[in-house]
Amino acid sequence: MLCDIYHRPVQDLRISVTDRCNFRCTYCMPLDEYEWLAKSEILSFEEITRLARLFVMLGVGKIRLTGGEPLARRDLEKLIAKLAALEGAPELCLTTNGSLLAEKAAALKAAGLRRINVSIDSLKPERFRQITKRGDLAKVLDGLFAAKHHGFHPIKINTVIERGVNDDEILDLVEFSRTYGFAIRFIEYMDVGNANHWTSEKMVSKQEILAIISAKFPLREVGRVKGSAPSVDYQFVDGRGDIGVIASVTEPFCTTCTRVRLTADGRLVTCLFSSHGYDLKTLMRNGASDTELLDVISRIWRGRRDRYSEERLAALRSPRGYDPQDHKKIEMISLGG
Ligand code: SAM
Ligand code: SF4
Ligand code: SF4
Repeated sequence: MLCDIYHRPVQDLRISVTDRCNFRCTYCMPLDEYEWLAKSEILSFEEITRLARLFVMLGVGKIRLTGGEPLARRDLEKLIAKLAALEGAPELCLTTNGSLLAEKAAALKAAGLRRINVSIDSLKPERFRQITKRGDLAKVLDGLFAAKHHGFHPIKINTVIERGVNDDEILDLVEFSRTYGFAIRFIEYMDVGNANHWTSEKMVSKQEILAIISAKFPLREVGRVKGSAPSVDYQFVDGRGDIGVIASVTEPFCTTCTRVRLTADGRLVTCLFSSHGYDLKTLMRNGASDTELLDVISRIWRGRRDRYSEERLAALRSPRGYDPQDHKKIEMISLGG
């Protein structure tokens, strides 16, 4: 088994298939202008599939497609079909903003995708528009229900809670998910990238989120589905569904982090808060063999010592405090969530 210095195996691969996005979420990529990757820099489906195959050989069992907005990449279903056919049959998931899901759901299902996460931070159309700057809630909900209609399972809703923005909607979102049978995952607002001007005051903690929910809907802790899962899950005591909370800021889970990321331009990134990645695309395009690529990836993973969220928590608790601008990070839109 390929492990890093803290004995963490490589198990989950997140592939950003494009850095482009039709939204400009205030907490992720609020900038209208951004230096987008040139088309020639973006990995082809064949290149992505080749790297995915090598990662599966090294122990990856789960692949999540993300972005930018992954459904903005033309013919994504063709990539899904290729990944679904990989030897070792990794579990495939997609994280999307849902805006193009209504038109894509049937093709994604036919290509072999079963699991989808849709990001929804508000059920109020006006507020949804303010958060995403360009999003239309009605279209996203159409996409969510189209996924349900086509039999995707599970369908999870990802919700980032930001103080003073949507923290008054936690219960509405829970009720919505319970009513329609979606699993909702609340995410603590993180200081990913550099463009969102994160401050710790804007972050609503897991404990606050749980207190609000359990006052109305009593919960029973289930724990993490897998030791390395970011979400801690809870069942409603009345048996009507479950929720999860991803508490990367207040309860970091670096100790069990088995995630590796591949950017749309083929850089291997070992942490969500990394400031750089390792350029696998150039190696590939210069003719590296599978053995050479496996060697490089293995060497990088063996040397991995990332534990950014644990370090951030220690800094937040220290007298000096934590300044997110101290450390330049790759933007989430380039990296994938
Ligand atoms: N565009 C797709 C979407 O929005 O689902 C996929 C990419 S997006 C970067 C992946 C996930 O990251 C989304 O669920 C989004 O809410 C989450 N995310 C983005 N910025 C975040 C932040 N600052 N803190 C916590 N989660 C964030
Ligand atoms: Fe929003 Fe996802 Fe686009 Fe980021 S990548 S701006 S979270 S839709
Ligand atoms: Fe993994 Fe880095 Fe997040 Fe820690 S901060 S859980 S090492 S991605």
